[in-house]
Amino acid sequence: NPDIRLQYQVTKFGEGDRLLVARDITRLVRLEQTRQDFVANASHELRTPLTVICGYLETFLDQDLPRPLTRALSQMQAQARRMESLVSDLLMLSRLEGSNHIADEHPVALHSMLMQIEHDAQALAQEKQHQISLELDSELELVGQELELHSAFSNLVFNAVRYTPDNGHIRLRWWVDARGGHFSVSDDGIGIDPIHIPRLTERFYRVDESRSSASGGTGLGLAIVKHVLVRHGAQLSIESQPGEGSTFSCHFPPEMLVMPDSRDRAAP
Ligand code: ADP
Repeated sequence: NPDIRLQYQVTKFGEGDRLLVARDITRLVRLEQTRQDFVANASHELRTPLTVICGYLETFLDQDLPRPLTRALSQMQAQARRMESLVSDLLMLSRLEGSNHIADEHPVALHSMLMQIEHDAQALAQEKQHQISLELDSELELVGQELELHSAFSNLVFNAVRYTPDNGHIRLRWWVDARGGHFSVSDDGIGIDPIHIPRLTERFYRVDESRSSASGGTGLGLAIVKHVLVRHGAQLSIESQPGEGSTFSCHFPPEMLVMPDSRDRAAP
């Protein structure tokens, strides 16, 4: 029966004996599907009213209004924008959770994508007087889903900018070796206590709730990164020292690498 989902577990015991346990997880799978559908539908329904609210707030803020009113409206606008980011991250995450494989992979112009992300991060980085460097140490690029990779890489870069105090250094690097292609983001920011690292990619997991919400994140960034990488057959590694900084690295298998402007896959 294709509607029934079973999970199998094989346990070895004695001299070559095996115990096969089949667990009926049909209800669990259905519940998870209902949860995902609910989040996707709710986020979708929230999008239109939010767009209307943001539109009106912008129109009001263009008028010459008394200062206390302008201040209140600006705060409403900031919160409404925060909700917009949350809703769009929730939508993206529920789409990613829907499947573990990408259907439409193409060669991605990785170098220009990374240069664009660095450029976009510069505006926020300049406010905090950070120095960002980008090193593209291999000509090879990637096959994948462009929007997803862009979202994963920019989440890592913007986190580095946000969790690094003023005058920090952020290093972005793309390189290739025998194990595949690697993109890493290193910062000399606040760092993370090792006990938090295994849970960082859970939805809404934050090391320091007040600092993280004040920094403007949605709490979904690293969950999105993890799902995007899983769908690309890639892995995330996190190294960090509290007070010294962090390095988030994405490791792509060699079969995902391609020569630029080519449809041929290339072994490194
Ligand atoms: P958020 O929107 O809160 O940034 P993320 O999922 O992107 O959510 O990150 C989860 C948590 O991981 C953050 O709240 C923060 O505590 C921690 N974190 C992420 N990136 C960094 C970094 N570069 N340096 C220090 N802490 C980080």
